[in-house]
Amino acid sequence: MKLEAVFIDRDGTIGGNGHFIHPRDFQLFEFTNQSIKLLKEAGLKVFAFTNQNRISRGEATRSEFEEQFKSIGFDAAYICPHDKESGCNCRKPVPGLLLQAAREHMLDLTRCVVIGDVGSTDMIAAAKVGAIKVLVRTGWGEGSLGEYRHTWADVEPEYIADHLLYAVKWVRSLIKNGDNSPVEK
Ligand SMILES: [Mg+2]
Ligand SMILES: [Zn+2]
Repeated sequence: MKLEAVFIDRDGTIGGNGHFIHPRDFQLFEFTNQSIKLLKEAGLKVFAFTNQNRISRGEATRSEFEEQFKSIGFDAAYICPHDKESGCNCRKPVPGLLLQAAREHMLDLTRCVVIGDVGSTDMIAAAKVGAIKVLVRTGWGEGSLGEYRHTWADVEPEYIADHLLYAVKWVRSLIKNGDNSPVEK
């Protein structure tokens, strides 16, 4: 099938441990750079998709995150800087950032993939717009599949990957002949 873009969560998905870590201290997983490269080689746009409420508390700046994502090779970063209590329309599981990206990049979100470690935010946001959902077991992934499964009980990921590189290999397998052919299925 033809795919257009992949949205990737930060904490627990490309590195870190699922909790906030300032960009200056954030360690990528060893397979993250290769994973991003493989997606770009497949002709896919790669976007960061992340809640970072510490921005609104002044503990880090949006540009520090943007620089980090750019250095890894992301095409753009979609970041919610707000606290949960703000009632904003961009904090996952609200799909506002996905809708914004779709407008800015003319995307059909049903041809986009969301990769993340949290069922109750990443997977629900993806489900709301009909995107393809891939849960990784790193970060909060195991907890999402176990203790917290009830918080996203209505949502079933299309794929569960041990980590980002396996998720990326699965995404690439969806693209016939690896050339992102426009022919459906
Ligand atoms: Mg995460
Ligand atoms: Zn927000």
